Amino acid sequence: MTAKWEQRWHPLRQEWVVIAGHRQDRPWIGETLPREDAELPTYLESCYLCPHNDRISGAVNEDYDGVYVFDNDHPCVGPMAPLDILEAPGVYRNAPAQGLARVVCYGPEHNLRLSRLSVESIAMLLRTWQAQYRELSARSEVAHVLIFENNGDVVGVPNPHPHCQIYATNFVFKTTEVELSASVEHLAATGHGLFHRRRIRRNSRHPRRRQCR
Ligand SMILES: [Zn+2]
Repeated sequence: MTAKWEQRWHPLRQEWVVIAGHRQDRPWIGETLPREDAELPTYLESCYLCPHNDRISGAVNEDYDGVYVFDNDHPCVGPMAPLDILEAPGVYRNAPAQGLARVVCYGPEHNLRLSRLSVESIAMLLRTWQAQYRELSARSEVAHVLIFENNGDVVGVPNPHPHCQIYATNFVFKTTEVELSASVEHLAATGHGLFHRRRIRRNSRHPRRRQCR
C-alpha cells in the first residue's frame, strides 16, 4: 500500500498537525507492555480505594455502596499549598498551587471498569460529575474544573480500582481556553456550533439500501 501522510487543520486546537500513519511501521526499540488479562477480585484488602480500607493519609474510606468522592490525599493543587515559595527568577513566574483536588470512585467493586458498569451506575456517576462541577465552579477561587481519568502503569496510576480525578484550579488550562475561543469564533462566523452536525447529511457514509419489491 502506498504510504500517505498529510497536514490537517485541527479546528479545536486551531493549528496544523501532521498525520503520518505510515510511521507506525517504523522500527521500535522502546518498551512494550503486555495486556492486563489477570482476574481481579471484587475487593482487595491492600487497595486504598476499596470500601472500609485505610488510605496512606490515615483516613478510612466509608463503607460506600455507590459513587464515593473524597479530597485527594496527595493533591497537586490544594488549600494547604505552600505559601513560602521562592521568587521565580527572570522571565519565570510562580504562585501557590491552590485549588482543590478530589478523587471519585465509580463504585465499590475493585474489578470493574467504566465500560462494564451498569447503566444505572453510569447515570449515578454522571450526576456526581455534574454536582461536583456545579459545586466547585460556584466557588469564587475556582476558575476551571477538570474531571479526567488516567489509568494504567504507563501514566503512573497503577491502581485498577475504577476512579477518576477532579482538579479545580484558579486558572483556566490553556487547552480549554483555546478550545473555547475556537468554538466562539466558529459560532460567530457560521451561526452554528463547532460540533453541530446540521450541515452533515445523515447516513451519508452508510446510505440506506433500497428495498427490493
Ligand atoms: Zn479497590
